[in-house]
Amino acid sequence: MINILQWYNASLSRRISSVFMVLLTILLIVIAFSINQLRVIDAEMKEVAYIDVPLNQIMERVEMLQLEQHILLEQFRLKERDPAGKMSPDQEYAYQKQQMKALLDQAVELIAQNLKANSIRFEKQQHQGLLDEIEAYHHHSDQFETALGDMLHNETISESSKQHLEQLANNLEQSVQQILTQIEQLTVDASRYTEKHEQEFFWVNMALGICALVIGFLLTGYIVQFFHKRIARMKHDIAQIDSSLTTGTPIPFPQVTDSADYLDEFSALEQELKLVMGRLAQEIENRELVEQQLLRLATHDKLTGAYNRHKWDDQLKWQVSLGQQGALFSLVLLDIDYFKRINDQFGHPVGDKVLTHLCQLIQSELDNTSMLFRIGGEEFAIILPLKNGQMALQFAETIRVKIEQSAEPGIPAYTVSMGVCECQAQDSVRTLFNRVDQCLYHAKGQGRNQVILE
Ligand code: GH3
Ligand code: MG
Ligand code: MG
Repeated sequence: MINILQWYNASLSRRISSVFMVLLTILLIVIAFSINQLRVIDAEMKEVAYIDVPLNQIMERVEMLQLEQHILLEQFRLKERDPAGKMSPDQEYAYQKQQMKALLDQAVELIAQNLKANSIRFEKQQHQGLLDEIEAYHHHSDQFETALGDMLHNETISESSKQHLEQLANNLEQSVQQILTQIEQLTVDASRYTEKHEQEFFWVNMALGICALVIGFLLTGYIVQFFHKRIARMKHDIAQIDSSLTTGTPIPFPQVTDSADYLDEFSALEQELKLVMGRLAQEIENRELVEQQLLRLATHDKLTGAYNRHKWDDQLKWQVSLGQQGALFSLVLLDIDYFKRINDQFGHPVGDKVLTHLCQLIQSELDNTSMLFRIGGEEFAIILPLKNGQMALQFAETIRVKIEQSAEPGIPAYTVSMGVCECQAQDSVRTLFNRVDQCLYHAKGQGRNQVILE
C-alpha cells in the first residue's frame, strides 16, 4: 500500500492524470447514463406514439359508436319504430356491432402485436386485462344482440324480457365504459412514467454534471496551488543563494533527503537545487576559509604569528591619526640583544625558536586592544592603546624581566632591549618612530637588556 502511494506521489504527471481519469470516468458515466436514459425515453415516446395514440383514436371512434348505440337503444325504449325503408333496430344494432367489432379488433391487434413484440413497457398486465375486457364486451354484445332479436320477433313483449334486455344493455354500456376508462388510465400512466423518467434524467445528469464541475475546479485549484507553493519554495531558495552571493553571508546547509526515488518532478528539481545550494554553501565556506587564510597571510608574519610589516605601516598610520585627535597610546620598540650570536652559536632554527618564544611570551601579556608587530628580522613593535608612557614602561619592564628569567628547554637564554614612547598630539609617524628608535638606541648603547622611556 505504502509502495503504491510512493509510486503515485513520485510523479506529478501520474497524480494529475489520475485525477483527470476520475473526471473522465464521471463524464463517461454521464454520457452512458444519458444515452441509456434517452433510449428509454425514446422507447416510451414510441410506445405513446405507436400504441397509446392509435388506441385513443380508436377509442374516440368507439365512443362515437357507443353514443350511436345509446341513441338507438333510447329510440327502441321509446318504441319509435323506424319509418319504412330504414333498417330495423336489430339490423341497425347488428350493423353497429360490426363496426364496433372492427374497431375493437384493431385495438386488440395493436395491443396483441405489441405485447408479442415486447414493445409494451408499462402496465403489461393492464394491457392484457384490456384484451380480456374487449373479449367480455363481445360476449355482452352477442348476448344483447340475441336478446334484441328474440324480443323483436316475438309479437308480445313480456315485462321480464324487457327488463332482461335493459339489464343486458346496461352491461354492454358498462363494458364499453370499462374499456374506455382502462385505456384512459393506461395513457395517463404512460405519460406519467415518461415524465418521471425525464425528470430523473434531468436530475441525475445535473448531479453528475455538478460533480464533474466541482472535481474540475478542485483539480485546477490543486494544480495551481501545488505549482504556486513549489515555485515559491524554489524562488525562496534562489533568493537565498542570490543574497548569499551578494552579501557574502554563508548559505545555510539544506536538508537533502536520501530517498530521491520517490520524489515527484518538482521535488526532484528542488532536491537538485538543494544539492547545488549545498555545494555552493561548501564553496562559500571554503572561499571564506581561503579568504581568512589570505588575509592572515597578508597581515601576519608566518613564523611568529605577530602582525607583519605591511599591517604595521597601516596600523601605525591610523593610530597616529587617532593620537593627533587626542587618543592616548604608547609605542614600544623591541630588539633582541646579540641575536646574530644566537644564530651563529645554535643555528638558524634555534634562532627561529627564540623569535617564536618571544612572540608567545609577549602575546600572553597583551590585552585585547594591544598589538604586536614584527617589523624586521628580530625587531618588534607593540602598540598599546589607552596606556601612557609610565604604564607602557611598566608593561615593557614586565616583559623584559620575564624574558630574562625564562628558562625554556631548547631555547637559549636571551635578553631584549626596548624603547618606549607616549604619542603626542603633534607627532607624525616619522617623529614618533624616530623618538622611540632613539630610546631603543640608547637602551642598546647603555648595555642592552633594559627599557628606556623617553
Ligand atoms: P644587537 O644586540 O646590536 O641587536 O646585535 P644583533 O646581533 O642582534 O644585531 P644584528 O642586526 O647584527 O643581527 C641580527 C640578526 O638577526 C642577523 C640575521 O641573521 C638575524 N635574523 C634576521 N631574521 C632572522 C630570522 O628570521 N631567523 C633567524 N634565525 N635569524 C634572523
Ligand atoms: Mg639585535
Ligand atoms: Mg636588530
